[in-house]
Amino acid sequence: MVIFKTKKLLLAYLKKIRKANPQIGFVPTMGALHKGHISLIEKSVKTNTVTICSIFVNPTQFNNKKDFDHYPITIQKDINLLINAGCTVLFLPSVSEMYPVGAKLKNYNLGVIETVLEGKFRPGHYQGVCQIVDKLLTLVHPNHLYMGQKDYQQCMVIKKLIALENFNTKLHICNTVRESSGLAMSSRNLRLNSKEKIVSTIIYQVLQLMKQQILPGNVTALKNKMIKKLESKNLLVDYVEIADAKNLNLIDYWDGKSKLVALIAASVQDVRLIDNLPLN
Ligand code: AMP
Repeated sequence: MVIFKTKKLLLAYLKKIRKANPQIGFVPTMGALHKGHISLIEKSVKTNTVTICSIFVNPTQFNNKKDFDHYPITIQKDINLLINAGCTVLFLPSVSEMYPVGAKLKNYNLGVIETVLEGKFRPGHYQGVCQIVDKLLTLVHPNHLYMGQKDYQQCMVIKKLIALENFNTKLHICNTVRESSGLAMSSRNLRLNSKEKIVSTIIYQVLQLMKQQILPGNVTALKNKMIKKLESKNLLVDYVEIADAKNLNLIDYWDGKSKLVALIAASVQDVRLIDNLPLN
């Protein structure tokens, strides 16, 4: 695996390899890699000639400075995991490389998708996500982009970004990888102690209960019951929502036909976790 820290070196490499018309797969990450990230790398390695992974903790997508300051960094371990998974290139830029001083930040017309769920609780988050993914896609121009369903709303935002900016890239949304306990793998899990990790499994349990218990009609009582379940384990709940799986319109009433997804954001101590599950 080759590692590039500057756009210039990455671009020079890409220019050279493009002569052989390769299929390029791309996996953007913020590092502290786990099996969820690696599943995306493995998917890409299977179908592409070249797999590029980026590791960059993007400051513009953090609306909470403490969260940014505490974001885990395990770069040497990440490099070993990527080599073992068959990754071809790691792009590892600095903040000043991606955001040169004085450069203007773009604004994206994402519509209602950035006003609900994570968009509502983390104002500006998806603008920041688009700023960095736009820059990375402009550099790499991958044929295939791999992202995790764990970040359901992010996948929908990136789908929109690809359309808005006319990228010739196919987005692949990959299944959420979980611990055997059901807890969705996340870099933030590194900040949980063993007791908190056990408590956190309530999130997936609640999602499964929602899948079992959802019935056509008003779903408000079900959502409220699940909020209480999370709070009974001392989780601080941002939201328990049910949304149309296609457009993330939040619903209070289900017609029994439309495809739904349940989404949860809740904190265990000061570690904020998100998860989701398609319901039907
Ligand atoms: P992050 O480093 O958290 O920004 O995540 C980088 C990519 O890995 C995103 O596309 C995430 O959705 C994906 N990802 C994170 N956790 C998981 C997981 N448990 N299973 C599958 N994909 C994941």
